[in-house]
Amino acid sequence: MDKRLSLHDDRLFPSDATQRAIARRLYAGVRTLPIVSPHGHTDPQWFAHNKPFADPATLLVIPDHYVFRMLYSHGVSLESLGVPRTDGGLVEKDSRRIWQLFAQHWHLFRGTPTQIWFNHVLHEVFGVREGLAPESADSIYDRIADCLARPEFLPRALYERFNIEVLSTTESPLDPLAHHQKLRASGWKGRVVPTYRPDPVVDPEFAGFADHVLRLGEITGEDTATWTGYLQALANRRKFFASQGATATDHGHPSALTCDLPRSRCETLLTKALSGKIAPAEAQEFRGQMLTEMARMSVEDGLVMQIHPGAYRNHNPRVFGAFGLDKGCDIPMRTDYVHDLKPLLDRFGNEKRLTIILFTLDESAYSRELAPLAGHYPALKLGPAWWFYDSPEGMRFYRERVTETAGFYNTVGFNDDTRAFPSIPARHDVARRVDCAFLARLVAEHRLDEDEARDVALDLAYKLAKQAYRL
Ligand SMILES: [Zn+2]
Repeated sequence: MDKRLSLHDDRLFPSDATQRAIARRLYAGVRTLPIVSPHGHTDPQWFAHNKPFADPATLLVIPDHYVFRMLYSHGVSLESLGVPRTDGGLVEKDSRRIWQLFAQHWHLFRGTPTQIWFNHVLHEVFGVREGLAPESADSIYDRIADCLARPEFLPRALYERFNIEVLSTTESPLDPLAHHQKLRASGWKGRVVPTYRPDPVVDPEFAGFADHVLRLGEITGEDTATWTGYLQALANRRKFFASQGATATDHGHPSALTCDLPRSRCETLLTKALSGKIAPAEAQEFRGQMLTEMARMSVEDGLVMQIHPGAYRNHNPRVFGAFGLDKGCDIPMRTDYVHDLKPLLDRFGNEKRLTIILFTLDESAYSRELAPLAGHYPALKLGPAWWFYDSPEGMRFYRERVTETAGFYNTVGFNDDTRAFPSIPARHDVARRVDCAFLARLVAEHRLDEDEARDVALDLAYKLAKQAYRL
């Protein structure tokens, strides 16, 4: 079996001829725009050191939870895919064998966005022209390995080839940002900026919380055992991140709960959290208070705030125990934005200087809660269809549920949120195509003029992300 790999020019466009023709015209106007990637999880070290990527499996399989969670669901062990164990135990080290195992299961991805992204990466980044299958796995492996050894596949060269204008990474406040500093000092023109993600120091249930807060105190010279010192230390690190180019914070809480508590209660909760003797409901309260504190600091220092609630982290204790965080067993939960955000919105929802970008893993909240909230509060914007919904159907559903109440301009364009660096162009291309397809329907139904749709397509693909994230 020798199947050719090709990417159809009209992929993801409507099958209706009128709409398809409009979608093609709109897409032609945005296809080659630079990529603005305001939220993601690439490693700044890649760009600071600019060393070759190791091998095909280490680049494309082992770090990608979208990939290995599917294989795991069909009984393939994470050890056999080379995913490192936290105890340093034995896992597959042979990159080619991992790649072959992946290729044997490639059919599992039919109909998923991973298939679209991966085929795009093979075709556009590595010039592969045969479809991935057990029979072609070896020759495709060789081709990618050969590419990775060449200078035009070094991280900075790929960044330039992908036409990335700015790329945000995600770091803990304890991170010294050494790679970002090295990058800035190197004179390279690429723009890679950090994002302040304080979960390890504001979530009492984060493993090592008390130690992290102690360390935060050491770094900043503040007494983080006191409420005032703790807040001051967090503000200091925000200032440092901003000095290294950060324009945003990111908060990955289990729920969207926010609180506005009296100071004495905050002090009590901090003391309990640091002693490790805090009940789950109190930890929740503390996290909720910290979102409100972070919003207050954002009003002062101008950092854009992203709230990513609704993931039940590490749902599978056996996988978490053996492999740690981010191993494909985070599961979406129902989220209540209307009640949970109210304490924060009561204080800061009317602040024109504040931008809070809300994400959801609860699709049922789009038209019932999120679009009405973002369509009213000046401080609120809606982040794109994310994670499980970073997909053609997810994006379409998002536009259909959100646009009529919040418009396009309470949304913030696309972000790829990825660890898989070579897939960044693929992901942005899917978003551009799906948005053009959505706009084409509005034009075909005479709900929007085509010149308006052209402007909107440009804004969704490029301008809104820059504006919303102040990049
Ligand atoms: Zn993220």
